[in-house]
Amino acid sequence: MRLLIDGARIWDGTGAAPFPGKVLIEGERIAAVVPQAETLEAGDAERIDASSKFLMPGMVEGHAHLSFVDTPRGTALGELPPEDHALLTMDAARRLLGAGFTSACSAAAAKIRLDVAVRDAINQGITDGPRLLAASPELTVTGGLGDGRRLHLHQESFGVPVDGPDEVRRMARLCLREGVDTIKLNISGDFGTESAPADVAVMTDEEVAAGVATAHAIGRRASAHARASASVKRALRHGVDIIYHCDFADEAALDQLEAAKDRVFTGPAIGLVVTRLERLRGDNTPQGRRQLERVKPLYEASCRTHDAMRRRGIRVVLGGDYGFADNPQGTNARDLEHFVTHFGFSAGEALQAATRIGGQVMQRGHELGLVKEGCLADLLLVDGDPLKDVRVLQDNKRFIFIMKGGVRFQACEGPPHVRRLH
Ligand SMILES: [Zn+2]
Repeated sequence: MRLLIDGARIWDGTGAAPFPGKVLIEGERIAAVVPQAETLEAGDAERIDASSKFLMPGMVEGHAHLSFVDTPRGTALGELPPEDHALLTMDAARRLLGAGFTSACSAAAAKIRLDVAVRDAINQGITDGPRLLAASPELTVTGGLGDGRRLHLHQESFGVPVDGPDEVRRMARLCLREGVDTIKLNISGDFGTESAPADVAVMTDEEVAAGVATAHAIGRRASAHARASASVKRALRHGVDIIYHCDFADEAALDQLEAAKDRVFTGPAIGLVVTRLERLRGDNTPQGRRQLERVKPLYEASCRTHDAMRRRGIRVVLGGDYGFADNPQGTNARDLEHFVTHFGFSAGEALQAATRIGGQVMQRGHELGLVKEGCLADLLLVDGDPLKDVRVLQDNKRFIFIMKGGVRFQACEGPPHVRRLH
């Protein structure tokens, strides 16, 4: 397959200004990128007239939960049989690709093998979806975020309760045996969890150390749910590779993150927080008002923290906890707008979080997230200018095509979906 994309404004993902040019695709890779004025020997390549269109790298969802299938409660995930759940996860993968995301780094699966099975199915061409790094379920302490059980009632959720370093190690080893790329550890609690609040680090040093060491022993990574400042420091102390949220990080935690900025990635997952906040502002029940009292300070802390992280040059990936009823799969590009509106990112900075830095969190920064010769041909050809208004990427009818590894997809009508173009 040889394809010449001719005349597009090329935004290459590095932060450099876009320029009119030609891009030659050969097979799954970009063979050449040249300014429009230069000649490019394209031979018999198929030619696409892309003048007045915007060409950019495919986006990377840095905090994916493909098996969180838009249920209203975490425990509803536990009620899904694994067969049905796998099909719904495949569907979410197609929706994410249809929303312009050609890669996804999972931040937890709802069952141990869901990400693994869908990752492998995508790699084998059985189903369409983004390049996927598979995560474990959320390893959480009893009473922590994702422990859906009650004393009188056994319920599964997206977490697997583990207490003490031995249980963490055993569960991490089991998940690694089943093929996950990343072990997820819930170090802090969250705003909806009575027994583990967002600003408290409930998983101990010994437990975090055991989880990280187990993943690292065979060259895989650990990520953390870490809203509390103490949980960010704990994650850093024990070598967690991707530290999500960081909302309540204090100055010392930010200093430590900055000192480790060549090693760690962070990701706010702000999408869910923003949609929750919007919903709760219109909820006048006593329960709604109580929840708003928790979410509002968390949102405000997250805005302060991510403004500071951007100024300090700490790597932040896009990704907003999509996969809940009020924050559904496929609407992930809203995160770009959130980065601009709530965190003070420029459009170009938000787009870099979604592309160049996304490629790095996929551990493929040399070949993903950039429009450069030799890189994988993961591209979006867009009718519109996301540098003027990032919201154009929320409308997938704007995509002339979504390309993954040289294969073109077209977004379908209705909720984000794709079909292959041949
Ligand atoms: Zn999450």
